[in-house]
Amino acid sequence: MHRDPDADALGSSLGWASYLIKKGHEVTVISPTDYTANLRWLSGIEHVLVYDKPGDHSKCKKKIEQSTLICCLDFSALSRLKDLGKVVEEAAAPKLMVDHHLEPEHFAKWMIWDTYAAATAQLIYALIKELEGNLPTQEIFDIPMAECLYAGIMTDTGSFRHGNVTPEVHLAVADLMLTGFDSSRVHRLIYDNAPLSRLQFLGYVLSQKLVVLPEYRTAYMVLTEAELQKFNSSTGETEGIVNYGLQVENVVMSAMFIERKGEVKISFRSVGTFSVRDLASSHFNGGGHKNASGGRSEQSVNETVATFLSILPSYQQALLNVD
Ligand code: 5GP
Ligand code: MN
Repeated sequence: MHRDPDADALGSSLGWASYLIKKGHEVTVISPTDYTANLRWLSGIEHVLVYDKPGDHSKCKKKIEQSTLICCLDFSALSRLKDLGKVVEEAAAPKLMVDHHLEPEHFAKWMIWDTYAAATAQLIYALIKELEGNLPTQEIFDIPMAECLYAGIMTDTGSFRHGNVTPEVHLAVADLMLTGFDSSRVHRLIYDNAPLSRLQFLGYVLSQKLVVLPEYRTAYMVLTEAELQKFNSSTGETEGIVNYGLQVENVVMSAMFIERKGEVKISFRSVGTFSVRDLASSHFNGGGHKNASGGRSEQSVNETVATFLSILPSYQQALLNVD
């Protein structure tokens, strides 16, 4: 899975791993970096190895070098693996990519790649269904597997709100729900499970840091390393905050700049026809989806924001044209 894994990266990987384990395979799930606390309940997560944890580092390398198949889930560019990308690239085993991001690299022998899919978990659901022919869902998926896949689909669709929601999404979820898991509980575990400090941090960001540029229908927020430290913020505590910019009336693009460990991590969100993927890939070494993308910059945070502000005029017409 990709670095800074979200519920889709982890949920699709863990759901797929459970399936393969049921089929008698020996499976190791590896994440390049650590994950947020609200995902610690996902079934099987206790066995996930984290490449950038010193204790897991050499184990991950060995597992990848010895593997007979490497499944690459929820990413399609090896750079999304951070330092682990090189290990995967050099490994002898053939690779299977399952992903829904735009513009894949061609490093995998087999690709299940569908940008119409809302989530990698949806692709894993469809793959397992296809492999199992007409078996009833309850005989294929158990509750923990269904929860893992549901978590990925729920979060990548913004709880079934985004433009990527299709009939197939609802059909997949309806089918998974036949296993009998409690979907409301999954939602609570992910979204209503934050430390008080996260809500206080959110309050600070929204009241002090949110800038709205009505002429560009754009909102943005900039967070410095010092501010993050002040609020004792871990990676997870900024996750999702960029979405709040889109709640402002008339705003169709939201951006968040986070200064962390000598680089600036940028998140973009948009609605409708405006592609933040194009913006991220043209200007910020990034990519992703049309309406949710990200990138990075090695300039200072001020320079990065200045770049962003300087390119806005060239996107003004496209921003104004969004329905
Ligand atoms: P987030 O803002 O949640 O970190 O990222 C949103 C989406 O943007 C991710 O699902 C991923 O597709 C994409 N993304 C984020 N950061 C990067 C990046 O550095 N490079 C690329 N290619 N895509 C990214
Ligand atoms: Mn995904």
